[in-house]
Amino acid sequence: MENCIFCKIIDQEIPSYKIYEDEKVYAFLDISQATKGHTLVVPKRHVTDIFDYDEDLAADVFARIPKIARALEQAFPEMEGLNILNNNKELAYQSVFHSHIHLVPRYSKKDDFS
Ligand code: 5GP
Ligand code: ZN
Repeated sequence: MENCIFCKIIDQEIPSYKIYEDEKVYAFLDISQATKGHTLVVPKRHVTDIFDYDEDLAADVFARIPKIARALEQAFPEMEGLNILNNNKELAYQSVFHSHIHLVPRYSKKDDFS
């Protein structure tokens, strides 16, 4: 979709640090790291928010989350926990209107900024 920042990231028009990619999803580091390794998982097909998902897209995206979580665990072995978050619509703090799932690694010692 034109003028969508995450579509441009998927198309490599805007650079990003890739964590995982396949034919259905793209996962990359959030530009504003809530904790070290904070990652966004986005469907390659532009959908605005969770209300736009059909069952196939939900299966495509959510079935991949455990695999991406394990990739993060490998990349950041000090990680001891993981929050999975998804904001939908402005009132619920969505700020980019291409649906995305936040994976926020948690650490007991360093690199947890909260
Ligand atoms: P939301 O607030 O919509 O749930 O999350 C949007 C997220 O996208 C924010 O955490 C923000 O830091 C991230 N973000 C916005 N623009 C960019 C960008 O150009 N590159 C990357 N990697 N992340 C972005
Ligand atoms: Zn988009």
